[in-house]
Amino acid sequence: MHITDIMQGNSPTFSFEFFPPRTPEAADTLYRTIRDLESYMPDFVDPIPHLTCICHNEEEIEAVLLRYAKSAIGNILALGGDRPTGMAYDQSRDSFRHAIDLVKFIRRFNDSGAHPDRRGFGIGVAGFPEGHPTTPNRLLEMDYFRAKVHAGADYIITQLFFDNDDFLDFRERCALAGIHIPIIAGIMPITSIGGLKRMAELAGGARFPAKLLRALQHCQDDPDMVRRVGIQYALEQCHGLLENDVAGIHFYTLNRSDATRLIFDSLGIRRDRNPEA
Ligand SMILES: Cc1cc2nc3c(=O)[nH]c(=O)nc-3n(C[C@H](O)[C@H](O)[C@H](O)COP(=O)(O)OP(=O)(O)OC[C@H]3O[C@@H](n4cnc5c(N)ncnc54)[C@H](O)[C@@H]3O)c2cc1C
Repeated sequence: MHITDIMQGNSPTFSFEFFPPRTPEAADTLYRTIRDLESYMPDFVDPIPHLTCICHNEEEIEAVLLRYAKSAIGNILALGGDRPTGMAYDQSRDSFRHAIDLVKFIRRFNDSGAHPDRRGFGIGVAGFPEGHPTTPNRLLEMDYFRAKVHAGADYIITQLFFDNDDFLDFRERCALAGIHIPIIAGIMPITSIGGLKRMAELAGGARFPAKLLRALQHCQDDPDMVRRVGIQYALEQCHGLLENDVAGIHFYTLNRSDATRLIFDSLGIRRDRNPEA
């Protein structure tokens, strides 16, 4: 099933992102989190592979796509990918430079009929409401983005953001650029100061508004208060997005369930709204 099929029946959608665990302990945490969140009946969770251009040549990408198709994976998030750190990396080995090249390649693969769904994979791409750091020229960036979407993307999932105005403005700029596919908002509740700092590093260029920083400063490093403030902030973001007819909200769970559960409960989302998901 394509994400866009799900979106047609349920809008806005609610979805959770998990990442592959690296240790047996992390795997236990993930399975516990999945069990905790199961009852919230999300519209979808990743088994959406994140396929990046990094460290792959064309033959390898094709082999990966064949494997996914045989496993009846329905959707792929096509990404440029971040340069790996802590290992030697030779970009000249990669066949594709930008996510648009992957989108085009997956489209061609879809046309080959190798996928059990005759439409092939549904294709998602990443969007950056605050702009992507490597293209500071925002007009040029939107040109690249439009080309990527028009190469055959079905939906967009955004990078996390902490100011809804950034998302709403991005959505409007997309519409002005002729981009009319669903845009799913990526939300990550802050649950610790350490997590905030990690995010500032990982989601390079993310803007932390004064309103959020002020609220965190009032917590005076009390971890429980930080968590409460972070969750309340994300909850208010979700309310604002729903009031503005967001197509979907995607929670970056970091493989933990507590913050997402609290937000879901406070939003009052009925658990039986999507019994077939
Ligand atoms: C929802 C989501 C999930 C993610 N998951 C992962 C993951 O699993 N693994 C991972 O490594 N990273 C992940 N990332 C991070 C992402 O891969 C990086 O931020 C990457 O730098 C950009 O990815 P992209 O798909 O937007 O790349 P692209 O679309 O290729 O864009 C990257 C940069 O290149 C520029 N650009 C595009 N086309 C051109 C062109 N023709 N000429 C010059 N410049 C151009 C863009 O403006 C942008 O600045 C994720 C991001 C999001 C939002």
